[in-house]
Order: sequence, then structure tokens, then C-alpha cells
Amino acid sequence: MSSSNSLSVAVLPGDGIGAEVMGPCLEVIDAVTSRVGDISLSFKEVPAGAACYRDHGEALPKETLEEVRNADAILLAAMGMPDIRYPDGTEIAPQLDIRFELDLYAGVRPVRSIPGVPGPLSDPRAQALDFVLIRESTEGLFASHGKGTIEDNRIARDTMEITREVSEKLFDFSFNLARKRKAAGHEGRLTCVDKANVFTSFAFFRSIFDERAAENNDLIADYAYVDAMALNLVRNPWVYDVAVTENMFGDILSDLGAALIGGMGMAPSADVGDEHAVFQPCHGSAPDIVGSGKANPTAMFLSAGMMLEWLADKHDRPAYGKAGALLTAAVDKAFAAGNLLPFELGGESGTTDVTNAVIAAVDQVCDEMDLG
Ligand code: ATP
Repeated sequence: MSSSNSLSVAVLPGDGIGAEVMGPCLEVIDAVTSRVGDISLSFKEVPAGAACYRDHGEALPKETLEEVRNADAILLAAMGMPDIRYPDGTEIAPQLDIRFELDLYAGVRPVRSIPGVPGPLSDPRAQALDFVLIRESTEGLFASHGKGTIEDNRIARDTMEITREVSEKLFDFSFNLARKRKAAGHEGRLTCVDKANVFTSFAFFRSIFDERAAENNDLIADYAYVDAMALNLVRNPWVYDVAVTENMFGDILSDLGAALIGGMGMAPSADVGDEHAVFQPCHGSAPDIVGSGKANPTAMFLSAGMMLEWLADKHDRPAYGKAGALLTAAVDKAFAAGNLLPFELGGESGTTDVTNAVIAAVDQVCDEMDLG
């Protein structure tokens, strides 16, 4: 990691639409950081992903992992291609390996509506959603990634793993986020999403949640079974503040969350550990639209905004926080104008249209935010 004033970012465009949204994202970062000033970021692009595996026999080369470990933050677009697979038939997913390698246990998935972006629900409250799903990202059912077994072509097994160590850190992180949000006017509530009525592993998960809730009694702690949560996220998603869950459940529910705010191209995320963090849109490589110019880069932009804010907190550099806020506000401004509608939402705004609109909005928002 950098010891000088400059902070380093490892850039992993990956596969499919990854490179199509990463280039514009770097342009948007440049637009906001040059307006705010007092920011010095260096970017280094490194290879990883399905094409890297196909061409070099390695999905996550040692040198890439080293760069990623040494960087102050990691910006990742999308990885995996359905037609490039490991011999056991599973897809190439070095983004999962990075989460395991760097102990990025907290997958932060904000579900925030952007004014002007239509969602699938007609209730007006669904146009102003603002909650966060936290997906544990290093264990749960994904602990079995690469370790599943098939016996005699007759029975297959993948094993769920929940550890006390990671669960305690996950819940502490989640309560802290709920506390931070409470200070900003949210309810201050953390919902534990599990299946504690059926599985020992989830009963254990919930018992640790209860222990940590007792230590955080300035906040509200409650529970939801994952099936009921799926129902409620469609029926009344506006009641949630922060929800925390296991890896597999979080994988599924965060796609539901993305749908609530318009689609995969609108949903940012961060995978955060004690030392490192990866910032990546929730979507995959979207092979069905590669090369069409239809990829929506918004989720990538918003993930970069989260990166700037995380760097600000971690290194106590308020300018980075201002840049992150500016980036998010520029995205909101671009969509609020009402004439920007990405293809995935039924419109005709392509990658370049969205990028240009956001960059144009940076100047307008700068004046409003009194940034010069
Ligand atoms: P992964 O398993 O790697 O997360 P996935 O199988 O969930 O990937 P995605 O690649 O996220 O699939 O794509 C799901 C659908 O959403 C596809 O139809 C794809 O075209 C669409 N999609 C995903 N990302 C975007 C985007 N940024 N812009 C437009 N459409 C997108």
C-alpha cells in the first residue's frame, strides 16, 4: 500500500462488458477528482478473469494477486464467461477468490432508488428506497466453492460453513453501518436474515447475532427468515434499513434488490474487510450484450463513489469523501433530468450516453455543492 500521499488503485476490468464500463468509470473518476482537488490516485490495470484463464491458464495470476494485495483499493468490473469453464464445469470467478484471499467478509449492497429511474413497483414509496443489504462474502455456502463432491455419479454435496470469528466481525460491521446511518437520519435497525428455524448453521448464525445485538443496544435488532424476506422485499421493501445475511442468501437477495432499483446496471457494491476492499458493480459480464454499446455503466460509477468514500474514511482524507459524494450526486443529477433511460430499463441510452450525461452533471453539481 502507498506510504506516499498518493493512493493506489488496482484496476481489474475482467471479462465481457467489464472493460466497456471500466474505461468510462475511470473518466468519471478523473472528472470528479480533478474538480475537488487535493486528491492523488494512481491506477494500475492488471489481468484476471475467464479470458485470462483461457489465454494464460490462470484466472488470477500470482502477480495480479500481489498487485491487488498491495493496492490501497481495488476496482473490479466483471468476471466470468459461460463458455470458459474449469474442468468440473464451474465458471471462472476470481472475484470470489479475491474475497477469500483478502478476507473481504462484508459485501455491502446499497439498494437506493435514483430519482428519475423507474422501478418495477407502482407504490410511490418504492421510488425512494434507501436500505443496505450486507452479504457475508467469504463463507456460508460459498465456502464450498471448488470443494463440492460428486460420489459415484449418484450424489453431490456442497457444505455450508458459518464461523464465529467471521460472523462476529460481520455483525459488528453491520451494526456500525446501521449506527452511521442512524446519525444520518435513518432508523438505526439491523435485520438478520437467515433460516434459523431449519438449519443448525443458521441457528448458530442467529445466536451470534443476538450476542452482538446485546452489545449494540442503541440500535434496533430484528430477524427475518429468508423466504419471508424475499416476499417482503417485493411487498414492502421501504421498511428496511440495514439487513445482513449469509453469502448465498445475499447473492440471491441482492439481485432482487438490484431489480427494485431498475436492474443490474444500477446496483453498486463493495466487498470490505479489515484491511482491503473491492468495489464492483453487482452485475456479471453480461455476455448477451457485449459489444452492443448497451451496457449500463451506472453501477460501476456508483461503486467508484463508494471506493472514494471508503478511502476517505480509511485514510482520513475528507477530499476523497467529497469526490465520492460529488460522483453520486452527479449520477443522481444526470438521471433526474428525465431524458436518460438505459437499454436495460427499456430506453435507448447506451454506455456513452450515460457516461457523457454523468460527466456533464459533474460541473453542475460542483457549483451546487460549492466545490468551485
Ligand atoms: P454473475 O453470475 O457473474 O453475477 P449473472 O449470470 O447474474 O452474472 P449478469 O452478467 O449480471 O448475469 O447478467 C444478467 C442480465 O442482466 C443479463 O441479461 C445482462 O445483459 C443484464 N445486465 C447485467 N449487467 C448489465 C449492465 N451493466 N447493463 C445492462 N444490462 C446488464
